[in-house]
Amino acid sequence: MSAQVESGFAAPVLNDYAALRSSFQWKDAFALLSGLPEHKGLNIAYEAVDRHAASALAQRTAIRWIRKDRTSRDFTYAELRELTNQFANVLEQLGIQKGDRVFAFTGRIPELYISALGTLKKAAVFCPLFSVFGPEPVFQRLSRGDARVLVTTLDQYDKKIKGILPRLPELEWVLLTDAETHLNGKVKSLALLMKDASPEFRIPVTLPEDPALLHFTSGTTGMPKGALHVHNAVVMHLITGKYVLDFHDDDVYWCTADPGWVTGTSYGILSPLVNGITNIVDEEEFDAARWYSILEDHKVNVWYTAPTAIRRLMRMSIKPRSQYNLENLRLILSVGEPLHPEAVRWAQQTFEVPVLDNWWQTETGGIMISNYRSMEVRPGSMGKPLPGIEAAIGEIKDSGIELINEPGKQGNLILKKGWPSMFRTYLHEEARYDKCFHGDWYVTGDLAYRDADGYFWFVGRADDIIKTSGHMVGPFEVESTLMEHPAVGEAAVIGKPEPTIGELVKGFVVLKPGQIPDDALKLDIIGFARKKMGAAVAPKEIAFVTSLPKTRSGKILRRLLKARELGLPEGDTSTLEQS
Ligand code: AMP
Repeated sequence: MSAQVESGFAAPVLNDYAALRSSFQWKDAFALLSGLPEHKGLNIAYEAVDRHAASALAQRTAIRWIRKDRTSRDFTYAELRELTNQFANVLEQLGIQKGDRVFAFTGRIPELYISALGTLKKAAVFCPLFSVFGPEPVFQRLSRGDARVLVTTLDQYDKKIKGILPRLPELEWVLLTDAETHLNGKVKSLALLMKDASPEFRIPVTLPEDPALLHFTSGTTGMPKGALHVHNAVVMHLITGKYVLDFHDDDVYWCTADPGWVTGTSYGILSPLVNGITNIVDEEEFDAARWYSILEDHKVNVWYTAPTAIRRLMRMSIKPRSQYNLENLRLILSVGEPLHPEAVRWAQQTFEVPVLDNWWQTETGGIMISNYRSMEVRPGSMGKPLPGIEAAIGEIKDSGIELINEPGKQGNLILKKGWPSMFRTYLHEEARYDKCFHGDWYVTGDLAYRDADGYFWFVGRADDIIKTSGHMVGPFEVESTLMEHPAVGEAAVIGKPEPTIGELVKGFVVLKPGQIPDDALKLDIIGFARKKMGAAVAPKEIAFVTSLPKTRSGKILRRLLKARELGLPEGDTSTLEQS
């Protein structure tokens, strides 16, 4: 299936993957950035805002913020420059130094975006937190991240912050976005501080290796880890915006991810702005009709979303192409979880545009493997590595990494270390960081294989792999098959210990509306999977559930399903979506 199912649109930015991959040089990519004008250096916020504000793009809408009530407010690049300067000046007045950590704990409101970019201008480190966290996960992250400033709202402050403040002696300032007056010497009104701050600010010397962003990732076990990124990452935000998201000059782009998750920062703030296009921000959560209306009303060209959203849309009866005018939509992309072939096919047929899955993780700072608009899409595959990125399949041996070159053979997905947006440490956990590397390779913790044509296929998280009757079964493969059954809306698969065969494959299934969850349907689904996959791999047990446990970023928490199934402790559930 070709990605080129669209017509009448400008040619893809990356129109020949193989040619670009062979000629690509990082120095050419860096040459597309401006650098700080007054001194040698690189600052993400300068690249994202100031250089455009000083160009013909000054009056272009940088961010269009859509409020919950559907009214909107546009911020031009020139305005954003002044507002982020004001925020940087606020930090300056509060005595914040280079490298200090500034956290934001708000919904998707303008202050979140202004504080992110203003913090980067001050050469401090920005760390966004999901607004739905309760007090304990917030405390964990603020204390592990040595927060000096927290930007939040009155409501969050009252409900979740006040109680943990005594345990956070290092946290010097709490800035409330919607307080009209300062509450006390420590808890201030951000609006008041901003009013008094100058809209002019001189970005201090910022070097490519200076820390910029901190993102906590839960991983599958243990406490959250703080992955630290540097200003050099901006080159990745720039080129992935061009080559993967296919940004063209006048594009309107919408990334549905919250900045509390790395995608919502790298691709919901930085990549579109660094590329000088218009970025849509929606304050509200998922709502199918609202989302389709946003695509229509704001003439969105490029839409970056997640498999969980696509699966939810699949289960609904809305026909977007006939009920909405989506003539501007050129491209849909998805990240965060495997995008099942069934979902790729549904979305391509429904929207009549290419739907491109891509792969990356908090630690990689930017997209590493992707499908491209100009390249044949193989539904279910993550695509091929970005130009400049070397990805491989390998086995970890005592002697180091042994590369697996045989097509179809699964192993660890590994990346040649040293790409610009690679994380530089796990904060305060150097040993944990070092463990991720073997020689020249970064080990991602995912299992995958590569086909004969160089496409990468996701198998599963190394710790989600099921060992049954001597077979290694990736949950993704089984879930993809279950999703092909006409009654199945969503599925997750785990290994349940079983003495004779090691682990038994068990599927948890959310049915499509109107289906009757009875034993006959269970048997039918098991029979369907057996026919497609063989008895050794197909689930032996099916349970019907009304929803699957997921993270706020939409990832199915298989380890939680397993812990619940076995009656084991649930571990860190701070990122669990409360439904
Ligand atoms: P996070 O660091 O929270 O963004 O999670 C990264 C993990 O999400 C990866 O290591 C994968 O396990 C999973 N992931 C992200 N994108 C994809 C994808 N396109 N296909 C399969 N798994 C993905």
